[in-house]
Amino acid sequence: MSNQVVLKFNRDKPLRHKHPWVFSGAIDRIDPAITDGAVVDVVTPQSEFLGRGYLNRKSQIAVRVLTWNQAEAIDEEFWSRRLALAVSWRVMSDHEARRLVNAESDGLPGLVVDQYGDWLVIQALTLGIECAKAEIVDRLSELLKPRGIYERSDVDVREKEGLPPATGVLTGDEPPERIEIDENGRHFLVDVKHGHKTGFYLDQRDNRRKIRSYVRDAEVMNLFSYTGGFAVAALSAGAKSVLNVDSSADVLSLAKENLRLNGLAVNDNDFVEADVFSYLRRLRSEKHMFDVIIADPPKLAHSQAQLERAARAYKDLNLISMQLLRPGGYLITFSCSGLVSPDLFQKIVFGASIDAGHEAQIVERLSQSSDHPVLLSFPEAEYLKGLVCRVI
Ligand code: SAH
Repeated sequence: MSNQVVLKFNRDKPLRHKHPWVFSGAIDRIDPAITDGAVVDVVTPQSEFLGRGYLNRKSQIAVRVLTWNQAEAIDEEFWSRRLALAVSWRVMSDHEARRLVNAESDGLPGLVVDQYGDWLVIQALTLGIECAKAEIVDRLSELLKPRGIYERSDVDVREKEGLPPATGVLTGDEPPERIEIDENGRHFLVDVKHGHKTGFYLDQRDNRRKIRSYVRDAEVMNLFSYTGGFAVAALSAGAKSVLNVDSSADVLSLAKENLRLNGLAVNDNDFVEADVFSYLRRLRSEKHMFDVIIADPPKLAHSQAQLERAARAYKDLNLISMQLLRPGGYLITFSCSGLVSPDLFQKIVFGASIDAGHEAQIVERLSQSSDHPVLLSFPEAEYLKGLVCRVI
């Protein structure tokens, strides 16, 4: 058969364990007639079928497997079935703003679909999904009847696939500049066209609820505040004040709007446009203290080569934060770098506590929201981890 990708001898184990990625180094040969983006069968040197997925020679992940079932064709019904299944799995999360499709972990490698009320925002992260995009948009329209589907495929990973960034309306109406969503009873304005990711950090939704138990009457600092998700959560749960720090003026002004939207008072001094790392040093030299510090930095480790540097930055951030906490205060600290394992992150925070001269307890472990599931055979999907530490 001409649509086969033949693995090298003894390179079949990850696939037998249902890991959906085939690295180019594991491949012995591919028929040159097969075009990138096409559906292929991955087989052993003995021609045993292992999985069916889409090919891209330009990527180190040459094949992403869509099905382990040889009888399952990748056709219109396939996309319908998989999308409907992923959506059906979200019945437990009846939020207006939620992730409907979490790529590999929902059996749809390379595809992210987020919902903001009547609007869907998709990210096509790979060539295979790019090729199936029109089909996927049709199926999503049938299934959910959104007012519009907008694309936010302006992500770096597309480069590794040989794809340019792509944004814009895919079907229906253009979303407004701000979509208002309800999250855990709080209201937020989301800019799906220009905001980070698809507009909002949906992966932190469950944590924005969980932090409510730590902030009553507290003086809180919200580092890397973005549009004020944690600030609104903390203030409406009884925090005395929240100082927001972010390097982007635009997100801070949206954060202020989000506070107002929830009937919370806005004090301009509580919104600081600064680099967190240098601002923390200034606060330390001025001997400022807080009861709770939330630190949710952007991804600091993008590759193995950056890991050591990222680990130093995480340590620095957590070390100074601990020094700014009153005894009994809470550090709510996150890492969204997939390359930093939960174990490594805990070790970094431990190292920070030693150097800060403080003992600390872990009182809660945090993770990504439940609509960002992690397929057991694909632990790479677990990227967000957080620790709530009480400094004693
Ligand atoms: N906690 C937020 C998401 C944080 S995203 C939420 O729940 O919505 C990370 C934020 O860090 C972005 O808003 C980005 O503008 C900001 N940022 C990145 N590097 C920074 C730096 N060095 N100093 C301050 N802010 C930074």
